[in-house]
Amino acid sequence: MSVWAILVAAGRGERLGLDQPKAFAKLNGQPLLAEPLRRLDESDWIDAIVLVAPPGWEEPAILLAEEVGCGKVSACVPGGETRSDSVRAGVAEVPEDAVVVLVHDAARPLLPAEVIERVLAPLSEGWDGVVPGLPVSDTLKKVGADGAVEDTVSRDGLWAVQTPQAFAADVLRRAVANGGEATDCAGLVEAGGGRVKVVEGDARLLKVTTADDLAKIASWL
Ligand code: C5P
Repeated sequence: MSVWAILVAAGRGERLGLDQPKAFAKLNGQPLLAEPLRRLDESDWIDAIVLVAPPGWEEPAILLAEEVGCGKVSACVPGGETRSDSVRAGVAEVPEDAVVVLVHDAARPLLPAEVIERVLAPLSEGWDGVVPGLPVSDTLKKVGADGAVEDTVSRDGLWAVQTPQAFAADVLRRAVANGGEATDCAGLVEAGGGRVKVVEGDARLLKVTTADDLAKIASWL
């Protein structure tokens, strides 16, 4: 069985306020991208990696992969305008004989090895996709533009979903070919009627959005 990973790293990361893309923000002195790349490369479950880089940053991304000793990177392509476009660019580099594709956000650098196993295992039970998530613990409110609370939403059955997300390769190929948009890959698969399972995620999979997130993750390393 061949398992391909797509690492999407083409986001601009405007909220970090840096003059380079988020994937190249410094995490303990190294570009952020180095951490998830190394962790995917070290996983025995992953056979090959497609790196989706910020447009114009493909060469620095390849050099970084070499520097970190990531021998599994098979292709590095520029990302698109949206996350879904970037995933489409990555899927186009996955060969026909791939059986499973795992998609991970570079913005979630602390990828625990056990989460990779957790999302891959249920695929053999016939699920189209498997995603890690955590039950929502805060109270949820719908808030209007003026800051006024409009509704308190029940958090019953609500999960905050993370990456890595694992899919049967043909399912993901069909889902991205439909041309839709979603904030995660599972959303694209669900839109086509696919069955997606949620397994336990990990708080360390925090997504870097602000400088505070970066500092928190650096302190966990
Ligand atoms: O923007 P968001 O926080 O949803 O980004 C999640 C992941 O998707 C990040 O790793 C980011 O680099 C990637 N992304 C991308 N191409 C885009 C937008 C986001 O590869 N156009």
